[in-house]
Amino acid sequence: MNENRIHNFNAGPAALPLSVLEEIRDSFLNYKGCGMSVTEISHRSTLFDEIINDAVERTKRLLKLDDKYHVLFLQGGASMQFALIPMNFLADGKSADYVNTGTWSTKAIKEAQIQGKSINVVASSEDKKFSYIPKNIQFNEDAAYVHIASNNTIKGTQWASFPDTKGVPIVADMSSDMMSRPLDVEKFGLIYAGAQKNIGPAGVCMVIIRDDMLKKVPENLPTMMKYTTYASKNSMYNTPPCFAIYVLQLVMKWLEETIGGLDKMEALNLEKGRFLYDFIDSSDYYRATAEPDSRSLMNVTFRLPSEELEKQFILEAGKNGLGGLKGHRSVGGCRASIYNATSLEAVKALTDFMKTFEKENG
Ligand SMILES: *Cc1c(COP(=O)(O)O)cnc(C)c1O
Repeated sequence: MNENRIHNFNAGPAALPLSVLEEIRDSFLNYKGCGMSVTEISHRSTLFDEIINDAVERTKRLLKLDDKYHVLFLQGGASMQFALIPMNFLADGKSADYVNTGTWSTKAIKEAQIQGKSINVVASSEDKKFSYIPKNIQFNEDAAYVHIASNNTIKGTQWASFPDTKGVPIVADMSSDMMSRPLDVEKFGLIYAGAQKNIGPAGVCMVIIRDDMLKKVPENLPTMMKYTTYASKNSMYNTPPCFAIYVLQLVMKWLEETIGGLDKMEALNLEKGRFLYDFIDSSDYYRATAEPDSRSLMNVTFRLPSEELEKQFILEAGKNGLGGLKGHRSVGGCRASIYNATSLEAVKALTDFMKTFEKENG
């Protein structure tokens, strides 16, 4: 561990690979010898073209996307997508299916309803505090799309596999597990991810959209609200979030060149997740909150015997160089976010601390 750096279990913004941070630092004042910082160059320059094109190409290679898919960069976070998706794909009075698996999908549903769009909530896990991913869902065959959140950052659940929607395109919020595993992209019409969880810093949202979805976008939307604007201008109709895209590009490079692709990334994530869940399951003191077959490999949510102890646990963990373990304010408890950039070493440091804490307070 680099001196003074802690093990970072933040949910988002979250840990970035150390080598990426070092590369940013080392080239920050004079990017590639151009005499300017990367934050000072024009988005219309060749240097920036290279950055954004490399980010797109690496994303396509990592996810094995063919030319039907377009990689876009938008601002407004994943939350903006909640509004843009119904705006762009339900313009002709069509209806969409939504699966409600927690806070973020609830917000996505709300944004469609605010616009008076017709949507069906075809499944929900609200009956058990969103502690599981619904199964055997009946989708509507004439739905324009099926919206899901692939990983539920707050409740600590994740779709282990994706449902068969009989050809209806899946639109997925992958903010907190994007690039954590390989994907069978053919099922997806659109994938979006606020970068600050697993693929970069705050300020940019990656959107992957398929050609047939672009064709559904109506002309008469405000320019900045249409996916077609971003697709036809390589995400540079206006000034894009240049620095955030640059960092994202470096994270994609790290995934390809240091990790070795998404199969390798998935194996590492499985190893970390199993290590932590196995430890929690072996203890009578800690209790995982998500149902076993719905557990997230990215956000591990757990409880201690009392709220008092949880408070003390989070405080003492902080003193021991383990940060960001507080559960989301809406659910309480503890949460270890173990995204791509969080190492097995960090997870082991966490379980070591958990053992000690239990011994001293159990
Ligand atoms: C964090 C998060 C969001 C919200 O992202 P913003 O970029 O802050 O709008 C949406 N969905 C999921 C799954 C998230 O984890």
